[in-house]
This record gives sequence, C-alpha cells and structure tokens, in this order.
Amino acid sequence: MDREIKRVLDTLVENGFRAYLVGGFVRDYLLGITSYDVDICTDALPKDLFNLFPNNTSNNNYGGFNFKAKKYNVDITTFRKDVGYENRRPIKIEYVDSLEEDLKRRDFTINTICMDNLGNIIDLYNGINDLQDRIIKMVGNIDTKLQEDPLRILRAVRFASILDFEIDEDLKKGIIKYKELVKTLSIERIKQELNRIFINDNLEKGLNLLKELGLDKELGLSYDDVIYTTDIMGVYAQIKCDDKYFTNIQKEYIVSIQRVVSKGVIDNHTLFEYGLYVNTIASEIIGVSKEEVNSLYKNLPLKEKRDLAIKGSDIISILNIKPSKVVNEIHNTLVELVLSNELTNDYEVLKKYIIENKDVWNYEQR
Ligand code: ATP
Ligand code: MG
Repeated sequence: MDREIKRVLDTLVENGFRAYLVGGFVRDYLLGITSYDVDICTDALPKDLFNLFPNNTSNNNYGGFNFKAKKYNVDITTFRKDVGYENRRPIKIEYVDSLEEDLKRRDFTINTICMDNLGNIIDLYNGINDLQDRIIKMVGNIDTKLQEDPLRILRAVRFASILDFEIDEDLKKGIIKYKELVKTLSIERIKQELNRIFINDNLEKGLNLLKELGLDKELGLSYDDVIYTTDIMGVYAQIKCDDKYFTNIQKEYIVSIQRVVSKGVIDNHTLFEYGLYVNTIASEIIGVSKEEVNSLYKNLPLKEKRDLAIKGSDIISILNIKPSKVVNEIHNTLVELVLSNELTNDYEVLKKYIIENKDVWNYEQR
C-alpha cells in the first residue's frame, strides 16, 4: 500500500476510528490494476473528518470528504445507509455504525471488498470469490437495487466490459426487465458511462452486451462492427446516436471523421480539408498507419488555402479581370491541382497555368 494512502488510514485508526479502503481501488489493486481514485469508508462522522483533515477538504457528492493526497484523489465517506430513493438520489442518508450495513447499499460484490491500514482484506459479501470467477453480481435484491438507481445497469456493463468479466445471469435478467429505466438517467451520466466503455480497447464486449441486454435501443444507439480507436470520437463516428450526446464541435468532428472514412483513403485532399486530428482518427478505422498519415501531412504542399503561392489579387492582375466569384473558383482549382501534385506551389508555375487556361473560366475583362 502506498505511503500516502496508509497515512490517511492510519490517521483515522490512530484517532480511534475504523477505516477501510473500499470499492474500485481495492478491486483494481487485487486485479493488478493501478488506480488513483481512492475510496475510504469509516465510522468517523463528517465533523470528525473535518477535525482530522482540516486542510484541503471539500464535500464530495456523497456527503463525505474529498481531497488530494499526492497523485491520489481520496474520497472518505462515513458508513451509511440510504433511506428511500427518488430520482437516483437517496431521499435521506443515515449514518450507521456498521461496515456491513454500509457495504449492503453498494452495487456489486466486487466493489464491496475492503482493506484495512495493515493490508488485511475484509470480504463480507464474497467479493473475492466473484473477483476470481470474474463475475459481476449485485449485492442484495436485484429488483430493488436496479429500481433505486438505474445507473447500476450501465455500471454493470461498464465493469463487465473494462474488466472483461461476465454479468451474473440473474443480474442480466434484472437488467433486461428494467432496461427502460436507463432513459430516466441524465444525459451526462449516460455519456459518462458510455465514454468509459468506449475508451477501453475491450469495447466490443460492451457493445455486444448493450445489444444483448436491449440497452442499445433504450439509449438510442445503433451500430454494427465498431473498430476501436484511441480517440473516443472515432468510436462515436461509427455509432448512430442522438445528437443530444454531443457539443457542436464534437458533432463537427464526428461528421468530418465519417466523411474521411466513407472516402476510404487518407490523401492530401482529406488532410487539407479536415486536418491531422480527424485524419489520424479516420486512419485507425480505415486501417492506414499513423506513420503514413504523419508523413503525408508533413509533405502536404498546402496546409491552408492562404499557403497558395498566388493570391486572389495576383489572379486579378494577371488576367486583368474584375473581382468576382470566378477569382475564388480559379483559386480553388489551383489549390486542388497543387494538392494533387499536378502543379508545384510556385508563383511562376501557377501564373503560367492561369495564362494557359485563361479561356476555361468565364469572367469579365476590366
Ligand atoms: P471506478 O472508480 O473505477 O469508477 P468504483 O467502483 O470505485 O470504480 P466509484 O464511482 O468510485 O466507482 O464508487 C466507489 C464505490 O461506491 C463503488 O465501488 C461502489 O461500492 C459504490 N458505488 C458507486 N456508485 C454506486 C451506485 N450507483 N450504487 C451503489 N453503489 C455505488
Ligand atoms: Mg472509485
């Protein structure tokens, strides 16, 4: 156990409180995964916590304390039980004295494993067994737990996908039964869970699970084969989903990625039009190496329209014409030809081309 974390636990224990690491940190630790999100549960009340950790403490979302301990983000929460639920939030929480009671309100057995300041494991809900069997099992009554907080549906899929675990059959049945409750969740929470599924290279499992459980339709998602991309926008570009999930800038990126993917190649034209970021993502979907994209970009004769060696004003004076749309048309043609490597981006070369082709365009002489 890292010194920083032990120090927090020791502080609580030395002051006569019980304190345990719980949740994702212990689960991941036992799976050999490093996590910087540390959850601690304790019988110390918020006022005690305030006295013990007077610096850097702020309220967390769960009526507990949150602070940074070096690279760790620590959440300390007083043992509690939730009394009644409304809109995913307990109407009332009651502080309790028992660890067992606190663990009972949690979602999955693998998230109830605790560790004390000496590194001893406390496993009241058979979490270790389920961790070894790589299975996601609900703590307590499935119907109640899913109805109380439907976010647990998406958390189950997320953990199954990221950890490559199976969801227990009874829990699967429960999820199917209550699947439409995911629609009651806020877009932000849904997006947060989807992001965590899609950002992981085991996303295929998550996507298959969403389909198997009928959650794809409830969430308004539609997809076939989705190729993992290191940037999540590449994943979203392969999934049909409601606009409401994205900001305008994200929508723009998604459409651009889709355009490059449907063209099926990365070339000077796609790089010029959509830039390196979009093309790099699209290249992962098309199956073009990053090196190739980077080298194409590096050798791009023009990165922007204004990089063309000839300006609109030059075109006007070379042809001795009145300013009009045609100037822009000529300019665009030159850009295209330079991008296709048919012309060099050189003033004299471009000028020669304009003069030789002056009859192609329809313009008014000055
Ligand atoms: P990660 O930090 O990787 O997202 P986590 O399991 O630690 O995973 P947190 O959101 O940090 O998830 O929550 C900490 C613990 O609180 C969980 O392990 C679980 O025991 C409990 N918990 C979190 N969300 C819920 C929920 N919606 N319903 C019941 N218990 C929950
Ligand atoms: Mg956590």
